[in-house]
Amino acid sequence: MIIRFLGTSHGFCEKGRFCSSAAITSGDRSYIIDAGAPIACLLKTYGIEYTSIGGIFITHSHSDHYLGLVEYINQLEGFMEYKGFHNDIYVPEGFPKARINQFLFGDPEGKKRTIPGGDSRQGADPEPDRVTFITYHDGLIFDDGRVSIEAIPVRHMENAHSFLVREGDKKVLFSGDLARNFPDYPAVLTDEQGGGVDLLIIEGAHTRLNRPEIIDLFSRTKTKKLIITHCNYAHNTREIISEVKTKLSGLFPVEEAYDGLQIKL
Ligand SMILES: [Zn+2]
Ligand SMILES: [Zn+2]
Repeated sequence: MIIRFLGTSHGFCEKGRFCSSAAITSGDRSYIIDAGAPIACLLKTYGIEYTSIGGIFITHSHSDHYLGLVEYINQLEGFMEYKGFHNDIYVPEGFPKARINQFLFGDPEGKKRTIPGGDSRQGADPEPDRVTFITYHDGLIFDDGRVSIEAIPVRHMENAHSFLVREGDKKVLFSGDLARNFPDYPAVLTDEQGGGVDLLIIEGAHTRLNRPEIIDLFSRTKTKKLIITHCNYAHNTREIISEVKTKLSGLFPVEEAYDGLQIKL
């Protein structure tokens, strides 16, 4: 699988860094983890066709992880070139889909408005909506025989999750946002019996990553590689990140994500 980081900034965008989103590509299918703005543009920038998307998965209901959906859905729904294409968007409980529908369609249920005598392409499309929101819960939430995704509950906010993504025997854990100082660090990462992961993608927005207990947690983590994304460099300075890299250097490589970074597993 190929992981492309589309947006790697923290709660708001920075120069050259957009809000959270990543694309996992397996063969001719792509799967999107989080959909911060401006994901519709970033997919085009990196040549990921909307019609190749097998699912969009939102870790939690903070807007830096989903606001790009507004533009993305608007494009899918608005243009005839996407006629016949359908996307499922997997969202946690409490996700504000009514607000998104209200914004896009003027209707919390997402019903397109029809204007009698109006332009037939404006609202009179007889085709069902091209997007369905699916509310997921803890555990296995997706498996299309190619890629599977397990949602692991974390305590960053209500109904927040990490995602464990599997393709064949490859495993990647996207931490999403965790609670401060990682009391909810997913057990699969340090479990003595578990096989660990090939790649851990950890957020660097809420916890100072060079704290001794965090370095200890990382040291006990069974991964082949660690990537820090969502980094707030005002909080986790370049010096702190470089200290983390040095302290973990004997265990596994540590890399910082940037917009456009591509990793092949
Ligand atoms: Zn965030
Ligand atoms: Zn958050």
